[in-house]
Amino acid sequence: TIAFLNGEFMPLSEAKISPMDRGFLFGDGIYEVIPTYHGKAVGMTGHLSRMRDGLAAISITNPYNAQQWQQNLNGLIDANASHFPNGNIGVYFHISRGTDTKRYHAYPQNITPTVFGFAFEIAPSQPLEAANVKPFKVALEEDKRWQRCHIKSTSLLGNVMHFQAGVDSGVQETILHNSDGIITEASSCNVFMVKDNAIFTPPLDNQLLPGITRQIALEAFKRAGLAVEEKWFTKEDLFNADEVWLTSSSKEIAPVIEVDGKTIGSGEVGPMWEKAIKAYHNYKFEA
Ligand code: PMP
Repeated sequence: TIAFLNGEFMPLSEAKISPMDRGFLFGDGIYEVIPTYHGKAVGMTGHLSRMRDGLAAISITNPYNAQQWQQNLNGLIDANASHFPNGNIGVYFHISRGTDTKRYHAYPQNITPTVFGFAFEIAPSQPLEAANVKPFKVALEEDKRWQRCHIKSTSLLGNVMHFQAGVDSGVQETILHNSDGIITEASSCNVFMVKDNAIFTPPLDNQLLPGITRQIALEAFKRAGLAVEEKWFTKEDLFNADEVWLTSSSKEIAPVIEVDGKTIGSGEVGPMWEKAIKAYHNYKFEA
């Protein structure tokens, strides 16, 4: 496949970054994953605005404007289109603080950010019928990460360890709760639950990533007239929910039928999920 590195397109196998890059040494950078279907990106405005916020939070000057980011994205899609003929392409962009000559924690002055991008195949758009979607089973753990989870940091060891705990127990994701038993997000997704036909997701704060899929879904649900509220809920609420969903750029809205070995609702993909995915598909390319 073709990668993007510091303004140039090249075979991924030829893209080289110094081991003195602060992204490698400190995880000092931020990233985005943008889903595209047949050349059309979902949530580009939201992804670029979260990227801007993340860069501002860690004092890295945004190396490109919105139009240039769009060109970088299009360049990667075009260059990789023949490699992914089904047209479902995820684009990863990573901006690290750059390469230094020494390893010293403080932000060095006058180094140039490293910008890396590559394309990978994502799952096709989700089907509209519950019978055709593969539901998730997930683990549940107390969030042991840091207090800046709203920054899409490339330092992902905490997320990786939570995700692996799920894999080790034979499931595909791990939902997280804080020390008060409040659900925040999952190791690589946001969390929604349904109770009595109303949809809930935690409000945004430092405990969770402001997911772009979450944002698009919220707007899509409101437009479709579904009852939806940003509200904290507990582990117990989750176990008693009628439906639980995960959202992310690569998964869209994924139904969950089991949490920590306990069956959610009927144990099957629920009727609200069908309404939700329909609303999401109707709106996602407009967002
Ligand atoms: N939370 C975490 C911790 C994530 O890593 C992600 C992205 N994979 C999400 C939520 C979902 O964000 P988005 O919808 O922007 O992909």
